[in-house]
Amino acid sequence: MGKRIAPFTATGKSVAFSLVHLVRLLWIRRQLSKRDRWTRDALRTHQGDALREMRAHAYAHSPFYQRFHAGLTDVPLHKLPVLTKKKLMEHWNDVVTDRSLTLEELRTFIEGLDVPRLFRNEYVAATTSGSTGLKGVFAFNREEWLWGVASHARATTWAGARVGPLHRLRMAIVSSTKAWCKSLLVGASVDTSILPTLRLDSTESLHVIVERLNVFQPDILVAYAETANALALKQLSHDLHISPRMVFASSEVFTASARKRITAAWGSQPFNAYAATETALIAADCAHHRMHLAEDLIIAEIVDGENNPVPIGTYGEKVLVTVLFSRTVPLIRYELSDRVALADLPTPCECGKPFAVLAGIQGRVEDTMFLQGDGGDPVAITPDIFHDVLEPAPVDGWQVVQENATSIVALIVGPQRGYDERTLKEQVRLRLREQGAHDPGVQVRILEKLRQSLTGKTPLVQALPHHTEQH
Ligand SMILES: [Zn+2]
Repeated sequence: MGKRIAPFTATGKSVAFSLVHLVRLLWIRRQLSKRDRWTRDALRTHQGDALREMRAHAYAHSPFYQRFHAGLTDVPLHKLPVLTKKKLMEHWNDVVTDRSLTLEELRTFIEGLDVPRLFRNEYVAATTSGSTGLKGVFAFNREEWLWGVASHARATTWAGARVGPLHRLRMAIVSSTKAWCKSLLVGASVDTSILPTLRLDSTESLHVIVERLNVFQPDILVAYAETANALALKQLSHDLHISPRMVFASSEVFTASARKRITAAWGSQPFNAYAATETALIAADCAHHRMHLAEDLIIAEIVDGENNPVPIGTYGEKVLVTVLFSRTVPLIRYELSDRVALADLPTPCECGKPFAVLAGIQGRVEDTMFLQGDGGDPVAITPDIFHDVLEPAPVDGWQVVQENATSIVALIVGPQRGYDERTLKEQVRLRLREQGAHDPGVQVRILEKLRQSLTGKTPLVQALPHHTEQH
């Protein structure tokens, strides 16, 4: 398979896979492909078995779970308590099943990371970006990591791309290149012979990203949704000239206008993937552009604010995930604050997969703004309010940032013919008034570039923190 495979056992440092790991990875991927043809019943049986095994491991090796689930080790999943990130981080040293791992040691290791490396030659360490105000730290052993990487690779398989030793495609990933960021770690692991990969930093200037993509000419382009949108604009203005067969967007809310623009730029509909550092891939589009939940690896419960399941078609406040292949840091009913809904399909998807389909992702609960209401109490403004008004506006991009309890600012890039600031302001104000906001202040600013977070994401709606994790 060529000489670029870094033998991690020899250097003890790289996260790149050795030949043994690549063979194992291919085996896992074959197992995953078989599951695409399972019946719903077979899937349910597998979920039950995998969940029992995973819980047994946690109860045998994690003092935290022994206490947290005391007297509950035999009750069904939905009767177990919910694990928040706050609780997980507070009890980390007791949660972890390798009793020699400590959070302090892992944090020190992560802080010193410049390039992706393994912790103690065994663990891949990753953190969540901390955009919700609390940084999560996670460790994955080799086997867990292989399953995680295989699950990410599924996004391309489900979309219909044939990738493997016999089907070499060039992939460009525009995302965070910070060493602790999961997308980079995945890229570093699948690099080299199977998938020649170019990794570009999403915080880099667009001009540089465009130049490098023009040279590399990827077959597959993977980017955060807003970055993909910005690159599509560059393609349409003839600065960028690449012809990817497939475009994958992830990590952010994927707007209809971004989808349209990407389709116009490269002639085919983009694919969406939903993943989290803690879980690997949660859901991804099939060739029919329906987003299937990876229910063989993750049990996802879509619930309201009180952890009650919501009906199909209704958006929940959070997703409780149980990661069936997690062992080092077992995740059982772990809370993600994403607003998603299950699709109510009249017939199963044509692709034949047994996995449920998501209707959409509306972003995170943290994206909901609270503005002062007419009665004095704060009123909730969900991101879809802004999407409704700003999506149809003739602009290249938009972002809404909450300034304080009574006012917001809309940031606009690339206003076009027909753009009218006064009308836009009035429309936003009107919608906020309809939601019960008291005399909301709305400013509009035209910018060259939207604001990015530290990891290069471009959240469309930025609310002031409202302490959703303090329970
Ligand atoms: Zn499908």
